[in-house]
Amino acid sequence: MSDTTNESVQAIERTLVGVETILSRMSAGTFRSCEVCGADIDDELLVADPMRSSCVEHPPLSAD
Ligand SMILES: [Zn+2]
Repeated sequence: MSDTTNESVQAIERTLVGVETILSRMSAGTFRSCEVCGADIDDELLVADPMRSSCVEHPPLSAD
């Protein structure tokens, strides 16, 4: 398996983890809540970044 393939697989895995995170947050009823302060996240922010988990006041926690 080449490095390029590995990177593609890792990118897909990251996406899957993100989707699973969204699904678990939706089922827990916290999809629209900031993970920092619990405030509702603006629809515009969620449309721009469906994986966003924090409100406009709190930058997303980076996993990088
Ligand atoms: Zn917040």
